Amino acid sequence: MKYANHISELVGGTPLVRLNAVTQGLSATILAKVEYVNPGGSVKDRIALKMIEAAEASGELQPGGTIVEPTSGNTGVGLALVAQRKGYRCVFVCPDKVSQDKRDVLRAYGAEVVVTPTAVPPEHPDSYYSVSDRLAAEIPGAWKPNQYVNPNGPASHYESTGPEIWADTDGRVTHLVAGVGTGGTITGTGRFLKDVSADRAAADGGRVVIVGADPLGSVYSGGDGRPYLVEGVGEDFWPAAYDPSVPDEIIAVSDADSFAMTRRLAREEGLLVGGSCGMAVEAALRYARDLQERDPDAAARAVVVVILPDSGRGYLSKIFNDSWMRSYGFLAADEGATVADVLR
Ligand code: PMP
Repeated sequence: MKYANHISELVGGTPLVRLNAVTQGLSATILAKVEYVNPGGSVKDRIALKMIEAAEASGELQPGGTIVEPTSGNTGVGLALVAQRKGYRCVFVCPDKVSQDKRDVLRAYGAEVVVTPTAVPPEHPDSYYSVSDRLAAEIPGAWKPNQYVNPNGPASHYESTGPEIWADTDGRVTHLVAGVGTGGTITGTGRFLKDVSADRAAADGGRVVIVGADPLGSVYSGGDGRPYLVEGVGEDFWPAAYDPSVPDEIIAVSDADSFAMTRRLAREEGLLVGGSCGMAVEAALRYARDLQERDPDAAARAVVVVILPDSGRGYLSKIFNDSWMRSYGFLAADEGATVADVLR
């Protein structure tokens, strides 16, 4: 019989799928790594598993302990499903701007969700950061994974995401493109791919080139932290989980371009994915287009892997909602017309 003993054993081992429609005119092979097939629906299951197992090994997390983390989404789901199996309590702190749907998902997995006001500065006692610190300090047996700092975030990608890409491409991957949030994905996956290809001959693609994708306005691409709408990526500070020496290049993508590509992935590639996926694919296509102009031979041999972190199901009322898109000017008035509108 072939079965897993628990859903958390199914984390990782995600497939690569070639992009065909959005890549027209490009000679590079562009492969998407589909992370929404992880049991919790995102790439974050990987770090949740590794951070919990490492904390158990170090004794920071003891039987019957409580996991306290400020998270509104994907990391919370990953932590909750691993915690369930192992009997830990989960307490997540979310700012009130986080949608009811997202809070409900965390509660559905059995986590407790504490909601804090968004409109207070970080040092305020009611802020997201202060409340989670207080809970972690005062709940007996509490442990805070702190994904922005925890080295086991990048380590999980060094041990799983990177080797999977190398194995599935038979060691032929030439470029990795990933969005940067905490920086864990690009740091761990990128570091592994650079290490493993360090001595590869130039004729075989040389060392893997690592390209970060970042929302326009975020610090990774030189922005001042000004707001953007794409979720899960970009920062207004430099987290310790991110090693800026890993990416060879960072490409900034606007919300409008990220969301337009996200919608194309659903309609043209059958990939219903989140906004950070559209952002990463847009960056990958720009990179491939530019390479083709600079060095057509290298472009023809290039195998570009782009990470798609999560599913589009969590964004149905935003990116996939025409009124929401129009309210921000991301959709031209006639783009969302119905058949009836057209035939009128
Ligand atoms: N996209 C989404 C939707 C995410 O939740 C995250 C995690 N913050 C990322 C991309 C970026 O991953 P990382 O934190 O590893 O940089």
